[in-house]
Amino acid sequence: MRIPIIAGNWKMNTTIEQAIELVRGMRDELSRIEGVEKVLCPPFISLAAIKELLAGSSIQLGAQNMYFEQKGAYTGEISASMLKGLCQYVILGHSERRQYFGESDEVVNRKVKAALEAGLKPILCIGERLEENEAGKTQEVVTRQLISALAGIDSPQGLVVAYEPVWAIGTGRAATGEQANNTIRLIRHILSQLYGEPMAQATRIQYGGSITSSNIAEFVSQSDIDGALVGGASLISTEFLGIVKQTASIKKG
Ligand code: PEP
Repeated sequence: MRIPIIAGNWKMNTTIEQAIELVRGMRDELSRIEGVEKVLCPPFISLAAIKELLAGSSIQLGAQNMYFEQKGAYTGEISASMLKGLCQYVILGHSERRQYFGESDEVVNRKVKAALEAGLKPILCIGERLEENEAGKTQEVVTRQLISALAGIDSPQGLVVAYEPVWAIGTGRAATGEQANNTIRLIRHILSQLYGEPMAQATRIQYGGSITSSNIAEFVSQSDIDGALVGGASLISTEFLGIVKQTASIKKG
């Protein structure tokens, strides 16, 4: 049995004060929801304050990125060992990092390795761009991104994969539940080839891309979709709570 996981990616939004207000507005209600792992991924600057606010709750914390080197002259960067005491998860390979900051498959692989070595759980994002989707290359792209990201890793303990078609992120144009489930099934199949069936069956694979409280049910009612990585809607407490509550009730069966 995989425990569903809903993660909120706040992206480059909220000051520390706004982040605290957002968490205060949903923490208690969110914490009481059982059967779903809840993860908040605020900007780096708010991690320490939110960690304190979440102490004693059932809500986990994640970062949105990190660098693969341990420490040193990398101005502006944050390492896995710096995050280790602050949060449990780290989003890696998000399409916005690939698109705006030139992150290659090789860089994503080095980051996944560094996160796992430090005991952080990566939320590894993979997904095809619109032109790749239209050219029928979804399977090829997703397969390449997954295999490259996990190259040289023997046992990706705690790995979560987020299938996020780039054309669905922030566009209001989500995939269909069936489309997402088919690609997620392929991802699980590749995981089973890399690591064996038990590991593939145990790994949570999320869908991400324009998820709201109005469409979450279509996705989490699919057999292979274990939750969602939520961008825009995670900044609205009622929306995020609605997404988590529906996931809990649908996955409970
Ligand atoms: C994301 O940032 O990973 C994402 C899926 O964004 P949105 O939900 O806004 O499409």
